[in-house]
Amino acid sequence: MIYRVENAMPYALRELRALTLEELSEFVIASGERSFRARQIMKWVWARGAESFDVMRDVPTLLRNRLAAEFTVAIPRAISARSADGTRKLLVALRDGEAIEGVIIPAGDRLTLCLSSQVGCAMGCEFCATARMGLHRNLTAAEMAGQVLAARRELTGDERLTNFVFMGMGEPLANYPNLARTLGIMTADWGLAISPRRITVSTVGLIPGMERLLAEFQVNLAVSLHATTDELRSRIVPINRRFPLADLLGACQRLPVARRNRITFEYVMLDGINDSTADAHRLLKLMRPLRAKVNLLFFNAFPGAPFQPSPRHRVEDFLAILRQGNLTATLRESRGADIAAACGQLYAERDGGIDQALKHRRSAAQAHLS
Ligand code: SF4
Repeated sequence: MIYRVENAMPYALRELRALTLEELSEFVIASGERSFRARQIMKWVWARGAESFDVMRDVPTLLRNRLAAEFTVAIPRAISARSADGTRKLLVALRDGEAIEGVIIPAGDRLTLCLSSQVGCAMGCEFCATARMGLHRNLTAAEMAGQVLAARRELTGDERLTNFVFMGMGEPLANYPNLARTLGIMTADWGLAISPRRITVSTVGLIPGMERLLAEFQVNLAVSLHATTDELRSRIVPINRRFPLADLLGACQRLPVARRNRITFEYVMLDGINDSTADAHRLLKLMRPLRAKVNLLFFNAFPGAPFQPSPRHRVEDFLAILRQGNLTATLRESRGADIAAACGQLYAERDGGIDQALKHRRSAAQAHLS
């Protein structure tokens, strides 16, 4: 999706949603107020999704004015597209004119939000549309957690987001300081109050970041594996040249998550590339020492993609081999491919106009009504 944000907000104001409770308390105290005001304000911005200080009626006017002079609490603007299978893609506009994509995926009684962590990505995975953008910049904690608020606005009736996966644009562990801050906000009682067990962080295998993440947070971990030999993995997931398979899987064995939960390994099925019987047996062998679960993914093509998806019968044969070897393995059906919202299809460039897109959407709605 290509679009541009017009009239991006000025950078003069800091993002209040990037602050911890402690940091906001410091500001409140320095403004001559008592620290409990910070909790009141956090409740407004996270639980109630306030977008202006004016609505915070239980906060003294003087403090509200001070906050308004320094901070913004605007929630990123988003537009959404809905797939035939109920998946919704969000196009989220950032203050500097950049844009990211997120996806809301319904499955049974779950409603999962797929979050982005960077604008673009530097990891260069060959099967991923986001890689084509390169890395534009890291997302701030306010932008990352703000996606939850933007997504909540797209919900209808009694819908509630139940699960949160950092599998959108970007490599979350390459933006670790902001990711850690975001996870702190998402799980804090004064923030979004989400159980860490409902959050999954996906990585291509940045070992130091994985170790740090699981030492600091009780979240779930997913590793994008996609190949069973260093030769192939170094080609399709280039970070493998720095963290080869033996090092990656050795680190996974030592991670604290292995004691209380399973690590999920993602494996995208590429026709004639990594989907042979030999690959399945090698994958079984690699997973044996681990408390692992494997998710097989259908490859979702995008313009210019150098691969084709494996045919369904081969994916099912591959899955059967894993299961016969007593490995917990699932086949994740492709969701949202008709709106380019499926795994590996996210792509957002600042060159088409989100305002333009909003205009088109409005006129389409008007045409529909008239
Ligand atoms: S798969 Fe993930 S890490 Fe790899 S290029 Fe795409 S967004 Fe980046």
